[in-house]
Amino acid sequence: MPVNDINHPLIAHKLALLRKEGVSTKQFRELANEVASLLTYEASRSLPLDNCKINGWQGEPIKVQMLSGKKLTVVPILRAGLGMLDGVMQLIPNAKVSVVGLYRDEETLNPVAYFDKIITDVDKRTALVIDPMLATGGTLLATIDLLKEKGCKKIIGLFLVASPEGLKRVSELHPEVDLFIAAIDESLNDKGYILPGLGDAGDKIFGTK
Ligand code: URA
Repeated sequence: MPVNDINHPLIAHKLALLRKEGVSTKQFRELANEVASLLTYEASRSLPLDNCKINGWQGEPIKVQMLSGKKLTVVPILRAGLGMLDGVMQLIPNAKVSVVGLYRDEETLNPVAYFDKIITDVDKRTALVIDPMLATGGTLLATIDLLKEKGCKKIIGLFLVASPEGLKRVSELHPEVDLFIAAIDESLNDKGYILPGLGDAGDKIFGTK
């Protein structure tokens, strides 16, 4: 199932606090990272395991399971995606980080990458794209294109809040991309904000408003 709307009491409670009028920058940052950790836990269920042998505490070989191969790269989309990075890295501390920055072209209104530092062996890794808001889907689509151009074969997205419109657009164009969403909200307004949403997640994380 490509869209996973994570129904969990802890997530519901933390989202309610994120939505509150007057939430402080400190609270917002902490909560965004806590929800990011919970989404990471859900999203990592499908990671492949290898059967391995190690020496256990008695010095004898024992059978265990460990994550396969090259594992992951986390892809925060600038700037708001950085607000979920610590939460993801708490669970996957060895993951490599591939940062992507996009701006919207004034004429075409399409997102254009102005920065990308994607790990060179992304073709051997699962990319875990993180951004608090999946609004129109334009930024995520551009990021998916960028990752696929570089050979990435498995992409998972983690979002705090998504609009139905954005989810439909992304899952129609890339049905194989797995999306983990803490809340699917009602709609988008004419300025591209999700309603009821969280407001401007970047400003709330960085305290710029
Ligand atoms: N980006 C935000 O920060 N908030 C929205 O509601 C939509 C996009």
